[in-house]
Amino acid sequence: MKQVYLDNNATTRVDPLVLEAMTPHFLQDYGNASSIHEFGQQAREAVETARQAVADLIGCLPKEIVFTSGGTESDNTAIRGIAAGHSGKGRHLITTTIEHPAVLRTMEQLEEEGFQVTYLPVDRQGLIRLEDLHASVREDTILISIMHANNETGAIQDLRAVGRLAREKGILIHSDAVQSAGKIPVDVNDLGVDLLSLSAHKIHGPKGAGALYIRHGVEMNSLLLGGSHERGRRGGSLSSVREIGS
Ligand SMILES: *Cc1c(COP(=O)(O)O)cnc(C)c1O
Repeated sequence: MKQVYLDNNATTRVDPLVLEAMTPHFLQDYGNASSIHEFGQQAREAVETARQAVADLIGCLPKEIVFTSGGTESDNTAIRGIAAGHSGKGRHLITTTIEHPAVLRTMEQLEEEGFQVTYLPVDRQGLIRLEDLHASVREDTILISIMHANNETGAIQDLRAVGRLAREKGILIHSDAVQSAGKIPVDVNDLGVDLLSLSAHKIHGPKGAGALYIRHGVEMNSLLLGGSHERGRRGGSLSSVREIGS
C-alpha cells in the first residue's frame, strides 16, 4: 500500500536540492566559519550566501539575521532577550492563547520570574480581536508576541494592524512566522515587525536549523553565551549547512 504523508506542519522531508547543497559542507568544506584559514573562509562564504538568501526571503538586511538551532530557539531568544534587555522600561508582555509551546512555555517561565503576561483569546476564526489588543496595552508593555500563521488551524493574523498599533505605542513586536515564511509573502517591513522566528524543517530544510530576524537597532540580551559569533548575539560555532529551504 502506498503511504501518504499529510503532516507537513509537524515537519517536512528534506528537499533533494537542499541535501545536495548541504552535502559538500560535511565532507569537503567542513571548516569552522570563524577560522581565518582557507577552510574557514570557504565555510564563512557559504554561511553568508545562506544569510543573504534568508534575508531575501523576508525582505531584510543580512546583518539582521541570526542563525539558530530552529524555531524553538528563535522564539526563546526573541522573548527572553527582549524581556531581559528591556525590564528597566517595564515587565509586561502581550501574546495569544494559541501560540506554539516555544512561546507559551517561555512566557509562563517569565511570569514565574516576576513578569506579567496578557494572553489574548481568539474568535471562532482563530483570530485575535484588535480591540482586545488595544485594551491590553499598558505603560509598562515591552513586547507583543503574536504568531503569523497558526500550526494547527492555519489562521493568519493581521500582523500589519498589530504592527501599526505597536509602532504608535512604541512597543516592540515579535512574530513566530515558522508556518508562514516560504508559503505566503512575509516581508518584515510590510508587516512592521521587529523580531521574526523562522525554522528550516517546516519548509523542506533540515531539522535543527532556523533563524531569528532582529531589526537593526533593537537592543537585546543574547540567550547563548560563548564566542563572539553572530555579532555577539549568539555564541556557538556556525553550521554552514543552514540553508533555509531551497
Ligand atoms: C514547529 C514550530 C516551532 C518550533 O520549531 P523547531 O524548529 O521545531 O524548534 C515553532 N513555532 C511554530 C509555529 C511551529 O510550527
